[in-house]
Amino acid sequence: MDAAPNCAICNAPAYPECPCESERLQIAVKQAEKRAMDARLDEIRDWVISHARQHILNAFERLTSSRKQAHATYLSSLPNYAIYMQYSGHPPIHPAYIAQLQAQISEAHAELKRGIDADWRASVLRYPEVLDYFYGLVSLRLPDERSPRVLEPPFAVAGYMDKGYGKEHKKKKRRDSSAAPDRMYSAVAERLRGPPSAPTPPIQSSGYRPPMYGY
Ligand SMILES: [Zn+2]
Repeated sequence: MDAAPNCAICNAPAYPECPCESERLQIAVKQAEKRAMDARLDEIRDWVISHARQHILNAFERLTSSRKQAHATYLSSLPNYAIYMQYSGHPPIHPAYIAQLQAQISEAHAELKRGIDADWRASVLRYPEVLDYFYGLVSLRLPDERSPRVLEPPFAVAGYMDKGYGKEHKKKKRRDSSAAPDRMYSAVAERLRGPPSAPTPPIQSSGYRPPMYGY
């Protein structure tokens, strides 16, 4: 006689395996992940974005400030620039010199603008690399497998897992066709150990019991 329990969801025989349980498990995992991770991911994302943005802005600032410096140095090196500035653009020199100087200044300003645009583009294009860097500084670590909190979760200590697991209870449940929660969990865990017929979430199966479902 086959002792494998029927599907906990639709009560179909264990073989051929139906996809209900792994589908429900996937949903439960997604929901648990959302509860556990969403707020932390939001916090991490905000942190990474603000640091990446600040780094990009600082780098851009450095690039443009040296470019502006070079621009100012170039302007002051132009012939007649000092007197041109001194007379606020109307120096007492031949108009041809003024026209030539104005053309040089205008070209230098255009060149500065092109340079700043290029600096900004270059800075912004580094976002993927900079985001990778700051995400890389965030640590999300799994607990030690030998940690008591892993080996003895509080709900197990409180008897949660043992509830309905006694011999009397087991006999009763066997006659009862309704699936006991713990039977259902171990059935699901059991199935996850074998080659799944439906895609299952990536779960360490050894000693693992799926969390309580939300249905
Ligand atoms: Zn089913």
